[in-house]
Amino acid sequence: MLNIEQLSFWEKQSYFEEIDFLIVGAGIVGYSTAIHLQEKYPNASILIVERGYLPSGASSKNAGFACFGSATELLDDLDQMDENTVWSTVQKRWEGLNYLKSIIGESNLELEVNGSWDILTTKNADKIPFVRSKIDYLNQQIEAITGEKKVYSEDLGLSKEFNFQGIETSINNRLEGQINTGKMIHRFYQKAIEKGIKVLFGIDVLSFESTENKVLINISQGEITARNLLICTNGFAAQLIDEDVQPARAQVIVTSPIPNLQMKGTFHYDQGYYYFRNVDNRILLGGGRNLDFKGETTTQMETTDLVMNSLNKLLKEVIIPNTPYSIEYKWAGIMGVGSTKAPIVKKVKPNVGIGVRMGGMGVAIGSLIGKELSELF
Ligand SMILES: Cc1cc2nc3c(=O)[nH]c(=O)nc-3n(C[C@H](O)[C@H](O)[C@H](O)COP(=O)(O)OP(=O)(O)OC[C@H]3O[C@@H](n4cnc5c(N)ncnc54)[C@H](O)[C@@H]3O)c2cc1C
Repeated sequence: MLNIEQLSFWEKQSYFEEIDFLIVGAGIVGYSTAIHLQEKYPNASILIVERGYLPSGASSKNAGFACFGSATELLDDLDQMDENTVWSTVQKRWEGLNYLKSIIGESNLELEVNGSWDILTTKNADKIPFVRSKIDYLNQQIEAITGEKKVYSEDLGLSKEFNFQGIETSINNRLEGQINTGKMIHRFYQKAIEKGIKVLFGIDVLSFESTENKVLINISQGEITARNLLICTNGFAAQLIDEDVQPARAQVIVTSPIPNLQMKGTFHYDQGYYYFRNVDNRILLGGGRNLDFKGETTTQMETTDLVMNSLNKLLKEVIIPNTPYSIEYKWAGIMGVGSTKAPIVKKVKPNVGIGVRMGGMGVAIGSLIGKELSELF
């Protein structure tokens, strides 16, 4: 691979000189930051650099849930975090989803608001009275954010409707939906290019040094400078900055097409540790990180037998019992998590900003975080 020193005058001038904003990471946050910066500074030179030949974190690998909070996950969060943080994060997810729709367009996202169901099985039957007793509270809080009444409701008929097994009841969230993740990220790329933003793949940012009027950036091909650096590397953030954000791997499978598949919509199971949806007539299923939190605190993009077996078990025992299928796709992606679910958006130097720690709902929150990060400059 050529290093920077070997590039022509034209190449250096076109891509690497006089960079106003260098953005690290071509995920939802990186693209959204770049797009908002371009709107704020139409004549600025903006470059996104990405280490993979495709985005290589979470934004092109996620399950495509357009979600902001299932009932049991929110109740679990309220148990562990302060109430204000929980609801202000939900507010950001809701605003973020609206931003995403406005940037990418609902049809480009292939957004379908079919609702989501939070499943309670016989295994967690003891939790059901508590969850039921909190539906009114959840509805009051969510109405204050969305303006919509009766967002959450109990749905006892889910098993019958979709032929699931071992499900006691479910809590429906009628405002959640699903998107086509591949189309979303490709549209982000197209939108950036249309706006004159440059995007280069195969560039790894190794380190940086901020001085008074520029940032020296050490990349895999040599050294470059930019007036400002914006780090949007989420689960990989620890390689460049020292903040409370750790990698959290998430593993996913997609089945073969299933004839006459009844299931339509998005489903959360076990406080959101498992999630599944239909993709046309296939099932996409992910989760199982709670089986080995320590082992899944990694940036290695590998699937493991432990998690794959648990996903298969859930398919066979709960989702499509007695239905033949094979696994046609499996992959892993990396999220960024920390001691709280709120993202980190701030300047760490006058000319260096960060937008990281999107947690498990970055599809919803990512675009808004990009906007917030751009507003710091
Ligand atoms: C399997 C999975 C399923 C998920 N499902 C959902 C879902 O259904 N709904 C939802 O809302 N959220 C979901 N998420 C979370 C969501 O996808 C993320 O929160 C969101 O995509 C984060 O976006 P980002 O731009 O912050 O990070 P990323 O998409 O990870 O982008 C960061 C980019 O930075 C690049 N990078 C890192 N370090 C460097 C470096 N040093 N130099 C150059 N480039 C670098 C990476 O390659 C990566 O492409 C899921 C995540 C995973 C992994």
